Amino acid sequence: MTAAIVGVRGHCAHCDISFELKPWQLNAIAINEPFDCPYCHKGVQPSCPKQLKQFKSLDNLALLRPSMMVLTGMALLVALVAEWIGLISVIGQLNVSMMAVLIYFMTLRYARHRQRMTLMLQWVKPLPVEQLAGIAGARLSQR
Ligand SMILES: [Zn+2]
Repeated sequence: MTAAIVGVRGHCAHCDISFELKPWQLNAIAINEPFDCPYCHKGVQPSCPKQLKQFKSLDNLALLRPSMMVLTGMALLVALVAEWIGLISVIGQLNVSMMAVLIYFMTLRYARHRQRMTLMLQWVKPLPVEQLAGIAGARLSQR
């Protein structure tokens, strides 16, 4: 799980509070480990499998941004070279560049929209020791 994912919120069913999920909490969710709610300190875990599936697909969205940046950069470069060697006019080059930048921002807007979600967190029974060790491991791997 990449720390690039932001804007994912969790809603604790026990204390009825929504909060922004920290990277180590996102990490715990990604490996299906319960973590403690920062408010009531109860072990919580996403309850809805559909939400969990949506959450896991966010990983691909996080990769979208760098790859879109490369693609846009390449499109701008190609347009510049094409104009340079006389393949297209200056106006044509500007049009291509504008389109590339526009597509870039539209894709990012879509990704950000998809990313805005609130995971419903269900209270789980007190954590067994081995799960606590797992969470500690997840926390340490974030540092
Ligand atoms: Zn809570």
